[in-house]
Amino acid sequence: MLNFCSLYSGSSGNSLFVETDNTKLLIDAGVSSKKIEKALNDLNVDPNTLDGILVTHEHSDHVQGLGTFSKKFDLPVFVNQETLDAMPKQRDKIADKNIKKFKVAEQFSIGDLDINPFSIPHDAANPCGFTILNENKKISIATDIGHMTNDILKNLEESLFVMLESNYDPEVLKCSSYPFSLKSRIAGPSRTSIKSNCWKNHFFSIKIRFKKSNAWSFK
Ligand SMILES: [Zn+2]
Repeated sequence: MLNFCSLYSGSSGNSLFVETDNTKLLIDAGVSSKKIEKALNDLNVDPNTLDGILVTHEHSDHVQGLGTFSKKFDLPVFVNQETLDAMPKQRDKIADKNIKKFKVAEQFSIGDLDINPFSIPHDAANPCGFTILNENKKISIATDIGHMTNDILKNLEESLFVMLESNYDPEVLKCSSYPFSLKSRIAGPSRTSIKSNCWKNHFFSIKIRFKKSNAWSFK
């Protein structure tokens, strides 16, 4: 069993949930700790049973509730050094023993999940996406990607499921009241030109475990 559910997605906050029979993980905690707790409770998942939180990058819509949630449920946070250094407010709330550092492009395991972090183009300290493997089943997560690269595509190969998320619609941006400098930043190579918050679930997906439209289970 490999289940995936998007608890929250979009510029107001991101948090994803992955589980197998033996392992439960959050990816990012970009809304309040309370909201994450509620979303997990809605799935009948006790936050105390989580094995940890993976962090993609330090922007507040990905880490807003991270420190508080880790502290409240005594959860390990898996993060690279540069991202950790770029979020001192969150770092201060996380117990030292719960800081688990990974290096981009080096595989590590959490329970029965093998995690491969890979670099993504985005204007953060060391942003990454993840491929997550369990018994030959592979899913891939790449949020806030500035643009698609060959390296990302290579990482996504043979995934049963790919979650791609990006930040803006070029037409909406063009007409917005943002100052030119901000428009340029958003439209630059570290952001993206894909329609806002688009979801692409390639290959197949079957809803089983969760009665939610944004959940998938792979057998
Ligand atoms: Zn971001």
